[in-house]
Amino acid sequence: MACALGLAPAPAAASDAVTAGASAGETTAHAILRELLAIDTTREHGTAIAVEALRARFLAAGFAPGDVTVVAPADAPARPSLIVRLRGRDAHAKALLYLCHLDVVAAKPSDWTVPPFAMTERDGWIYGRGAIDMKGEDANVVAALIRLKTEKYTPARDVIAAFTPDEEGGGAAGIAFLLAQHRDLIDAGLVLNPDAGRAAFRGGRYQSYGFETSEKLFVSFAAQTSNRGGHSSEPRPDNAIYQLSAALGRVAAFRFPTRLTDTVRAQYAALGKLQTGPRRPDMIAVGSGDLAAADRLSDNPTDNAAVRTTCVATQLSGGHAENALPQTARATLQCRMLPGDTTDQVQAALVGAINDPGVTLSVITPAKPAPESPPSPAVWSTIADTVHTLLPGLPVMPDMDAGASDSIYTRAAGVPSYGVASLFDDIDDYRAHGRDERVSAERFVLGGELTYRLIVAFSRPGAPGS
Ligand SMILES: [Zn+2]
Repeated sequence: MACALGLAPAPAAASDAVTAGASAGETTAHAILRELLAIDTTREHGTAIAVEALRARFLAAGFAPGDVTVVAPADAPARPSLIVRLRGRDAHAKALLYLCHLDVVAAKPSDWTVPPFAMTERDGWIYGRGAIDMKGEDANVVAALIRLKTEKYTPARDVIAAFTPDEEGGGAAGIAFLLAQHRDLIDAGLVLNPDAGRAAFRGGRYQSYGFETSEKLFVSFAAQTSNRGGHSSEPRPDNAIYQLSAALGRVAAFRFPTRLTDTVRAQYAALGKLQTGPRRPDMIAVGSGDLAAADRLSDNPTDNAAVRTTCVATQLSGGHAENALPQTARATLQCRMLPGDTTDQVQAALVGAINDPGVTLSVITPAKPAPESPPSPAVWSTIADTVHTLLPGLPVMPDMDAGASDSIYTRAAGVPSYGVASLFDDIDDYRAHGRDERVSAERFVLGGELTYRLIVAFSRPGAPGS
């Protein structure tokens, strides 16, 4: 994810507490990351080897075999999930679920300057496919749980961690399968997902921490025209391509109304205060619900995406021969809906904007609706207080992501879910899914300590969602 908000650096630096508390977990996390990076978990290769490696580690650390479970869909045996449970004092309290994925996107070795499926350490960086997305996070979660077990920590509620396949491929064999077939293994009152959120580092400084409460929802439509066609030597005014292009012109001019979710208001209120440029007053005004200010900010594509549903033409085809009048023309319209909008509402708005009954609009990819998880004061302060034990004074705010994570599944299943990335990524050099993916060795250690402290904070008596 990229952040184009143009922030001034915040006056925060890592505290000494990081090096003080982490020595045991640090070594373990590093070893686990080395092991995971060396295992190719692309869709083609699956997750079985990685699952077995982690299962062995949990058993060796003293987790009961019954609390370390491996399950896979019958039609995808090479893509298992591992679910581990650290038992709490109160079996009736709702559990905390850490949601992690083990799969990675493909990497072509010829594109990379280091082997993608191995750990390479160079100049303070750890390279390898998945270092950021999300084997670095996985390693920190595994190490934190092993450390808690070793310390004989008993949480107030059960702490579950699920390590899944298929996040990069849509989630069917991973979280969707677990929710449908093994809900008992992962049932929880609150989900923390380190695969989302905006832990931002820029210009050598820790800048801000966004915990993700919501995501824009993806839905695609086909807009299509048809015509009886004919010979191109005798053109007529009615023409499938002209009719579609006129409709697309109206879509281009159409803007969905601005709407501010609770998360976007809180996010802009916090980010506005960090802003030094001319956008500062409008960002602060968005924080208090000013729709006109939101509209003024919409010249910026990032702000525009935050304050309204958007649809954009992404593909186009039409006609069948160089010398024939076209019989069909078709365009793909890709929409990103604010949480709370529905496919039907967006379709109706597009039909109204197109205003031509000769243009049909049909759904290509339906949305997976997922509500916003409330940026409640209890969740916000638990996260902020924990972050501040390591990075005092760092701005912490809720965040709506334009991308997608597996949290949409758990939110749709009724479990409030928050993205809590622990790896502060350089927002000017974001390499997830790209070449030479890497994580800073120092920030990997800080992330491990943050993960450990978040698990403790969210498993205290009375923690949110318990
Ligand atoms: Zn990911």
